[in-house]
Amino acid sequence: MAENSTPRVVPLVDERPRRLAAPAAAFAEATRLKPAGHLQDRLQRPLHDLRISVTDRCNFRCSYCMPKEVFDKDYVYLPQSELLSFEEITRIASQFVAHGVEKIRLTGGEPLLRKNLEVLIAQLAALRTPQGKPLDLTLTTNGSLLARKAKALKAAGLQRVTVSLDGLDDIVFKRMNDVDFPVSDVLDGIQAAQAAGLGPIKVNMVVKKGTNDHEILPMARRFQGSGVVLRFIEFMDVGATNGWRMDDVLPSSAVIERIHSTMPLVALEAAQAGETAQRWGFAGADGLHDPQLGEIGVISSVTQAFCGECSRARLSTEGQLYLCLFASQGYDLRSLVRAGSDDGDLASAIAHIWRGRGDRYSALRAALPPDNGLAAKRVEMSYIGG
Ligand code: SAM
Ligand code: SF4
Ligand code: SF4
Repeated sequence: MAENSTPRVVPLVDERPRRLAAPAAAFAEATRLKPAGHLQDRLQRPLHDLRISVTDRCNFRCSYCMPKEVFDKDYVYLPQSELLSFEEITRIASQFVAHGVEKIRLTGGEPLLRKNLEVLIAQLAALRTPQGKPLDLTLTTNGSLLARKAKALKAAGLQRVTVSLDGLDDIVFKRMNDVDFPVSDVLDGIQAAQAAGLGPIKVNMVVKKGTNDHEILPMARRFQGSGVVLRFIEFMDVGATNGWRMDDVLPSSAVIERIHSTMPLVALEAAQAGETAQRWGFAGADGLHDPQLGEIGVISSVTQAFCGECSRARLSTEGQLYLCLFASQGYDLRSLVRAGSDDGDLASAIAHIWRGRGDRYSALRAALPPDNGLAAKRVEMSYIGG
């Protein structure tokens, strides 16, 4: 496509009602925008992070994400031809990097279920920022296949992993994952990842009040001083199927109080701008943070929205760009790629889409009427990537 001609963004037409197409009209008259290494949205938020969902499938059925009743044997997942290929993912990612993305997280579904994922990791690890720096390349996994794959992931160029683990008690954990998966195998995965050098490792625990909140202290004790950073995530109203109720949310402030009452904590500064977790360090006998004891984090998506700092874009399994975890429509980059558009088209479309972004769902959540109709239209986290 020639300079200054019109970028094309082709709307996706999907039979599934929840995946709405983005209107292309907004870009029809737009001038071509070249990447300059930085982009800001309507709320002056930079584009720094890209989360890429590599599969919509998972071997777990966590009730807060892919409840068994919905994701049953009749559920229709995307066919292979609908998924972005590794080459398509890398091509799109390279344009995000040209716009200033420095961190890429692979997710899903369960990303380690995607065949030959190491090939994609090697391709992404070869990308460089406009300043010539390698990316911060990481992955979020349920840990079930990590013991087997940690070494190969590291060898391919992955830097770090985040592992999800919702408790140490087998009965509780099995109730959360709903496929009878034991805690010990996830712990083995974490150990293998540490041994392979995929650190510093983060462990994410989604806290559901009355279901696993009694596991907060055992988890904090287990990972204190281990080099692993444990993070507690408030149960979110993401997607349309997890039966979310505010009553099931334990505010992060309560998590901190509980831990602090037996294991004193001190607040730490954010390590970098746009960080989702608030950091707390374990205190030593002198009341100051003892780095040997490590730290924890809380992600308070529900009770203390951090939309003002949100610099994350999400690329779905089939190549739609989402601007918010709670969005109900994406922008179809796959069609653009498959229609033969060049990198300039792609970069320009990404720039226009990001510059138009005003999403800040969590900041508005409390002000929205409870039956606002938005929830039923939201895409699922397993599709968009957590
Ligand atoms: N399957 C991988 C895993 O579980 O780590 C990656 C995908 S998963 C969607 C990414 C993260 O989202 C996980 O840490 C998971 O616990 C979190 N998550 C999923 N549903 C959630 C919800 N309703 N509220 C808060 N966190 C959620
Ligand atoms: Fe699977 Fe991760 Fe969702 Fe659990 S949270 S169902 S492991 S995608
Ligand atoms: Fe970002 Fe949307 Fe979450 Fe706000 S609600 S922090 S904009 S993903």
